[in-house]
Amino acid sequence: MTMVVTEPCRGCKDKSCLPVCPAECFYEDSEMLYIDPDECVDCAACVSECPVEAIFYEDDVPEKWKRYLGINAQKSRECLPAALD
Ligand code: SF4
Ligand code: SF4
Repeated sequence: MTMVVTEPCRGCKDKSCLPVCPAECFYEDSEMLYIDPDECVDCAACVSECPVEAIFYEDDVPEKWKRYLGINAQKSRECLPAALD
């Protein structure tokens, strides 16, 4: 299992999720953050920190945002690790 960052993160990037992640598995581009599915340890700490409820268990991602499973996997390989500004 992994968590998945979805559409509501786009343009938010307040990064409340970052400090609570023990696996440092968030990556980012100019748009949003992504979670590496191979690094996420499925602790769920990030879920309640996100003010716009952008993070879901992979099995619970709303149908309209299912494409974000692939997007997180791909972007986390391409992007730099997310860092606090
Ligand atoms: S807290 Fe939520 S919206 Fe903000 S950067 Fe993290 S995942 Fe994105
Ligand atoms: S579930 Fe835990 S390990 Fe995975 S991204 Fe969230 S805080 Fe990090």
